[in-house]
This record gives sequence, C-alpha cells and structure tokens, in this order.
Amino acid sequence: AKALGGNHFRFYNPSLDAQSLEALRMEGALQRALQRNEFEVLYQPLVAVDGGAIAGVEALLRWKRDTGTLLPHDFLALAEETGLIVPIGEWVLATVLAQQAAWRAAGLPRLRVSVNLSARQFHDQDLAAQVARLAREAGCELPCLGLEVAESVLAQDAPGTLDTMRKLAAMGVLLSIDDFGSGYSSLANLRRFPIHSLKVDRSFVSDITSDRDDAQIVKAVIALAHSLKLLVVAEGVENEAQVAVLREQGCDLMQGYYHSAPMTASQFEALLRRGAHE
Ligand code: C2E
Ligand code: CA
Ligand code: CA
Ligand code: CA
Repeated sequence: AKALGGNHFRFYNPSLDAQSLEALRMEGALQRALQRNEFEVLYQPLVAVDGGAIAGVEALLRWKRDTGTLLPHDFLALAEETGLIVPIGEWVLATVLAQQAAWRAAGLPRLRVSVNLSARQFHDQDLAAQVARLAREAGCELPCLGLEVAESVLAQDAPGTLDTMRKLAAMGVLLSIDDFGSGYSSLANLRRFPIHSLKVDRSFVSDITSDRDDAQIVKAVIALAHSLKLLVVAEGVENEAQVAVLREQGCDLMQGYYHSAPMTASQFEALLRRGAHE
C-alpha cells in the first residue's frame, strides 16, 4: 500500500487487474447509458442491385460516449453477457418504430426498417407481443418492420422459435438470416422457418472479384435462396466491380459503403426527400 498522506491508504487488489476494472467500469457505464440517452440508431439503405432504388433500410446501433462513439463490436458482447441487451434491444425497436411513424406523418415513402436482434431477444417468448405493443405505443399501427437474426437462432432449434417466427410473419414482420454462410444452417432448417431473405456475409462479398471460391459460394447461396423463394441481400458492397458480379449472379439487394455508409436519421430523411423529388 502506498501512503497518500495522512491516514489514507490505497490497497492493491490483485484480483482486480486493469482489464477487469475496465470491464466493470464499462458495465456501469452501459447500465447508465439508456437513462442518459447515449444510444443512437444509424440507418443504412438497402438498394436494388438492378436500378439502385432504395428498397429498405437497416438500423445500426451506436453508443455515444464523452470519449467518442462506440461500435456494437465494442459493447455488444458485454450487453449480451449482462442481459442489458434486452432493455437496449427494446429501446432500439421503440426508437425505430417511432422514427417510422414520424417519417410516415411527414409524408415520406413507406420503407421497411430492419432491426438486428440478438439470439437472447429472439428466445424471449414474448417477442411477437412485444413488437405489437411497441408498435402501438409508437403510434405505428402497421409497422413495416424486418428482423435480422443469426443463423444460430435456427440451429439451436429452441422450443418456441418457430412459433415466434410464425406470429411475427403473421404481423407482416419479415425475417432475415444475417451473416448467412458464416455459420451452419442446413437447407432443411431454412425450409422449416418462415424466412424472407438471406443476407450474405460481408466476408464473402469482399473477395468476390478476386477469389473464385468466394464467388462460387455467393453464386450457390443465390441459387439456393431463389429455389426457396427467398431474397438475397449482399452485405458490405464497396465497389463497382463487386456490383457487376452481383448483378451478373442475380443478387436482389445490396448494402454497403459503395452506395452509402450508415447515417443519422435526419441524413437518411434528406436522402429520401431527394429521392422523392427526382
Ligand atoms: P451486421 O448486421 O452484419 O451489420 C453490417 C455491419 O457492416 C455494420 O457494422 C455496418 O456498419 C457495416 N458495413 C456496412 N456496409 C459496409 C461496407 O461496405 N464495408 C464494411 N467494411 N462494413 C460495412 P456495425 O454497425 O458496426 O454493426 C456490427 C454488428 O453489430 C452488426 O452486423 C450486427 O450484428 C450488430 N448490431 C448492430 N446494431 C445492432 C442492434 O441494434 N442490436 C443487436 N442485437 N445487434 C446489432
Ligand atoms: Ca444485420
Ligand atoms: Ca454481417
Ligand atoms: Ca476468401
């Protein structure tokens, strides 16, 4: 212990190393982030590979701290471990539904907004009821919503998954499998669930022009999806050459920096207004 003057001593606790102290600090900050209104939803358009029309938009979470903006990669694991992802996820849904109601009231074109869900949220038996309640509270009577879930949600085959998916589908909520190709979902699995689209993981798209294997995988995924009457969305499209390959392969929608990075709600609204006047 080091003397700090007078009778004050600071003890070194070897079980609390710098890393776990930082984790504790993060957890406290994450707990307070909701009430402090530190989260923000950014929006990234999904556009048609053919023609480039905006066909939907994905909501992406950000955490704005005094020290800078954090990406989901920096805090999502902690949010899941601590269960804080449940109230945070509810906040994201409520925010997106309120935003949609506002855009509709402003006379903007009706666009489907897709929200990412953690497996934990999905296995909440009340997800369908929760979405219905949040839509009502947001004044968004007919939500135009998409939900993106990981392949693992299908693979775990938890009781209730199919039931929840059917209820959501009956409400007009479209389900997408996110990061498709990075996990293990069998063809049989895909057929059992009411899924609307597959999102091809960025890792396959990034090398699509240089790596023949990746190009073949994307081609196969598109064929598989189309044979099951599913739409295909390519993630992380960054250049014209990738667009050309995706167009040739018959991919339906794409998303990525090539068209637009994730942007704030007001930036996205401005983009919609420009589109409406073209
Ligand atoms: P994701 O669902 O696969 O989202 C796509 C990620 O790729 C986003 O990262 C997006 O900003 C980024 N991206 C988009 N276009 C490009 C591109 O052309 N190039 C590159 N290199 N990246 C691009 P972000 O926003 O950091 O989100 C990371 C992940 O965090 C998401 O991956 C999603 O799984 C998760 N996530 C985001 N928001 C939420 C949320 O509200 N709830 C939950 N549970 N997860 C979320
Ligand atoms: Ca996603
Ligand atoms: Ca991805
Ligand atoms: Ca590769």
